[in-house]
Amino acid sequence: MTSGSHVASAQPAKASSAAWTSSRPPLLRFLDRCHADFVAETGGDVARYIPELSKADPSHFGISLATLDGHVYEVGDTKVPFTIQSMSKPFVFALALDTLGAERVESVIGVEPSGDPFNSIRLNAENHPFNPMVNAGAIACSGLVHEAKGAGAFEHIRRELSRFAGRDLGVDEAVYRSESLTGDRNRAIGYLLRTNAVIKDNVAEVLDVYFRQCAILVTARDIAIMAATLANRGINPVTGEQVTTPYAIARTLSVMTSSGMYDYAGEWIYRIGIPAKSGVGGGILSALPARLGLGSYSPRLDRHGNSVRGIRVCAALSRHYDLHMLNRSDDA
Ligand code: GLN
Repeated sequence: MTSGSHVASAQPAKASSAAWTSSRPPLLRFLDRCHADFVAETGGDVARYIPELSKADPSHFGISLATLDGHVYEVGDTKVPFTIQSMSKPFVFALALDTLGAERVESVIGVEPSGDPFNSIRLNAENHPFNPMVNAGAIACSGLVHEAKGAGAFEHIRRELSRFAGRDLGVDEAVYRSESLTGDRNRAIGYLLRTNAVIKDNVAEVLDVYFRQCAILVTARDIAIMAATLANRGINPVTGEQVTTPYAIARTLSVMTSSGMYDYAGEWIYRIGIPAKSGVGGGILSALPARLGLGSYSPRLDRHGNSVRGIRVCAALSRHYDLHMLNRSDDA
């Protein structure tokens, strides 16, 4: 890993002894407690819409928190790779803003919450996607990057996401193939977008970019660092690299706030108050501006497609450290 960063620990909570526990930093002890408490939560189920995802181990549970000075705290299964899925959407939106400019992006994708599930096929009154966090808007973003980069679009996305994570990210080829074989609903959305001139390129090529970007492999640790980069105005706190512009970051965090958790977005921001994005692979990425990035992994999902344990972790963290972004004072 890059010099200047510091891994606090990767030990699971159950390995703690009294002496070792007392030497652990308070934040790590808090994460230990979250892990120990919420591992008992066995509600929800792994995603079953494609065969490959249904093979996920429902017992996996990892929590990682990255602070803006480059410390990464880890508890549980933080090194287990899983597919990024919809957590790719904010990063590809930021990339589209930086690559094509806000005017072009905003001419075809809205920023209003839809209140619909992530895979809704409904468009807004202008026949554009409601926002970049639902599949329609994300496929439109992949289309924009394809417009700019052609056959190099996916590699451009993969490299950009790797800079957010601070390491080279790979692809789960089996999940990619499974998505592609069964992705008719996303294809239908793609053709609907093309008939409304939101997508200009070949739909199959754009969908291939989208399916591949969803199959990028990350760990809870990666998404904590990616989230911390969002929280740090686009500078990766571990590598020190400026990955994207503060302009794109502020817009991305805005749509994460209003639409990142789909038809649970209002409830989420009301109760937890941290911009976030979930993925059906079981990850939740939360980015509290100027504070921290949190990545959790547990593949048991609720009916909205959000990780059940991940929601519990974010709620506990927000409550314990009083992190709701609308509950701030000048001296906070
Ligand atoms: N690959 C998934 C899809 O397009 C991503 C959805 C998600 O993570 N919510 O349906």
